[in-house]
Amino acid sequence: MGEMPYAGLRLDRAGNRRHDPGWVADVLARPGSRLLPLWQDQCLVRTTADRPRPVTLPAGCWPDLSDDLAADLVFLGLDADAGVFAADLSTLARDEALRRAAADTTIDVRRLFTALPRADSATLAYARGLLHWHRTHRFCGTCGTRNQPRHGGHARVCPGCERWQFPRLEPAVIVLVTLPGTPERCLLARHAGADEIAWSTLAGFVEVGETLEGAVRRELAEEAGVSLQGVRYVGSQPWPFPAGLMIGFRAVAASAEVTVDERELADARWFTRDELRELQAAWQQQRPESGHDSIESVLVGGWLAEGTAQQ
Ligand SMILES: [Zn+2]
Repeated sequence: MGEMPYAGLRLDRAGNRRHDPGWVADVLARPGSRLLPLWQDQCLVRTTADRPRPVTLPAGCWPDLSDDLAADLVFLGLDADAGVFAADLSTLARDEALRRAAADTTIDVRRLFTALPRADSATLAYARGLLHWHRTHRFCGTCGTRNQPRHGGHARVCPGCERWQFPRLEPAVIVLVTLPGTPERCLLARHAGADEIAWSTLAGFVEVGETLEGAVRRELAEEAGVSLQGVRYVGSQPWPFPAGLMIGFRAVAASAEVTVDERELADARWFTRDELRELQAAWQQQRPESGHDSIESVLVGGWLAEGTAQQ
């Protein structure tokens, strides 16, 4: 299995030390410490030698950068002894955010994926998700009081009712279903209103009170009328756009019959490896930039590679 996109974070999250505000302040003051500014979920980017590079600023400039703005600063982790922080400049107008960060433009981390080292994509996606959580959870859900960040930005606490809140993830399952036979085939679906060649594996959010395997079986039954005889965990992927965690599975269908739920899907059918390769080639021609950063590319790539190994 290939490495999951947005996995491979190289920072030490220091989860056992970041609860101490004195320690976080000490890390912020270290000479090599730096911060990544983001603006409304986008990276602030400077282009050098035709390559877009997300801006990194020395942590020492934080007081000037924050100035009068009610910005959030969160601790992401340690890179050796230096701290890596993320700063949300979302309350500024875009031009002002660009000026303060000395950046040319703003670009979403997903659009930078193929241009960046894997570890940098992981750090920026993590920063995007954590800052988004702060921006959308400023008030206590129980009593409505404005709450305050704690633990270097990994929690918020309400001064009114003392309720603690931690970043919430939204788990979703994604599954590559195969049908035994010669040749072996896999199930792909096209969503209502999607592009003619936009076939994809099935995925869906895990519901309250449900196991991951239960969610896989329910999604396949509801959307494609397919029952499964085996469900196997493959791997997971951070997907903080804004709060996802993708959990990838392989499954084997009990029969070839497909009954599409037309409210969700335009179509669903079985593809051989050859058909899937043709589809990928057409997709690559139309949208060369898209699809490289998803767990689906790993699930599908793994199945295609097994076919090559069998020949
Ligand atoms: Zn409260």
